[in-house]
Amino acid sequence: MIPLEEAQRRILGRIGRLPPRAVPVGEALGCVTSVAIVSTEAVPPFANSAMDGFALRAADTAGAGARLRVVGVLSAGQDPAGLRVGRGEAIRIMTGAAVPDGADSVVMVERTTGGKAPGDLVTVEIEVAEGSHIRPAGEDLMPGQETIPAGTVLGPGHLGLVASIGLSDVPVHPRARVGVLSTGDELVEGPAPLRPGQIRDSNRHALLALVRQAGCHPVDLGLVGDDKEAIEAALAQAAQRCDAVVTSGGVSVGDFDYMVVVLQALGGDAEWMQVAIKPAKPLLFGLVGEVPLFGLPGNPASAMVSFELFARPALRRLMGHPEPSSRAVRAVVDESLSRRPDGKLHLVRVRAESGEDGRLHVRSTGSQGSNLLGSMAAANALALLPDGDGTGAGNLVEILLLTSFWS
Ligand code: AMP
Ligand code: MG
Repeated sequence: MIPLEEAQRRILGRIGRLPPRAVPVGEALGCVTSVAIVSTEAVPPFANSAMDGFALRAADTAGAGARLRVVGVLSAGQDPAGLRVGRGEAIRIMTGAAVPDGADSVVMVERTTGGKAPGDLVTVEIEVAEGSHIRPAGEDLMPGQETIPAGTVLGPGHLGLVASIGLSDVPVHPRARVGVLSTGDELVEGPAPLRPGQIRDSNRHALLALVRQAGCHPVDLGLVGDDKEAIEAALAQAAQRCDAVVTSGGVSVGDFDYMVVVLQALGGDAEWMQVAIKPAKPLLFGLVGEVPLFGLPGNPASAMVSFELFARPALRRLMGHPEPSSRAVRAVVDESLSRRPDGKLHLVRVRAESGEDGRLHVRSTGSQGSNLLGSMAAANALALLPDGDGTGAGNLVEILLLTSFWS
């Protein structure tokens, strides 16, 4: 058996990055910029009012109580050309409207009375400081300024920034197209009645969801029986259409576990590993051409845990993520988590919740059999229990959060 970190290192060391390309802003959430994005425009493009109020000359309001003649109204989106504030004058102005010539400040409407329409007088109750409530051109971004550095995971705010400088596409490492294939003679798709010995294929649906949650494009490759030729054909085809392939089943030492020999036949430089973890000890990894293949174990909880530990970081690396590996955080154990020594790191399905003490607290979500999906479904984290007898209530434990983050 090899330690978890070594298995992870071996895999990550063989993963490259997908070549960058321009992706529409609407599809770029969670993608990673391949180069710095530099603004070609000022944002905002012109000085504008931060308030609904009156644009005026600050000097005219000395001593408070000034009465100014309203000479126009400016709304957001209106061209201010032709409008000008002279001495003793004001222009009624709305938030976002361009500051007219002659004005050097804005007073908010709440500090005035009157002045509803052009020709009226407005009384300014306060002395206005020059520059008040004016948002200068380029306050957020100047032309030529680096807007987003290379290697940034694009969140909603970044996409807003990109749109604010008029870009419709962003240079990113694209989403990986990830094929998911189930293997096993016992597997059945859909609601058909089960014959003796058959079970329903749950892994493919859980893994497709994990792929989507990891920010990739899932590609459903269906299911294939324990048949060397059929598996080989399915994988060869998958490598043509996908940037990575995830399979489940057939990587153990059973008589009909063919994944290793098939990957070898495909020239996949197959590495079969026994990782010192529970669940998910067996793992197959290789490259079919340039396409990474993750052969995950068939037990449903094992397949999902294996995806978290090995496939997710590799897929993130493929998509240019600067920090592909998930980082463990610490949590307080609320009920003891027990285990027996077996030379393995145990990944225990737990529910993490923030406590009133401001720390995360965890409890087991139930029976931990590698075939049991119930405790997996209820979990939002995996607690890392090093070899030994487990840990008691009140102790700290490292956990991997299973919820997806954009960064
Ligand atoms: P294997 O890794 O092929 O030896 O399978 C281990 C266990 O996982 C067996 O009990 C299989 O029936 C079960 N299994 C394999 N693939 C799936 C699947 N796609 N959905 C649900 N259970 C599966
Ligand atoms: Mg099998």
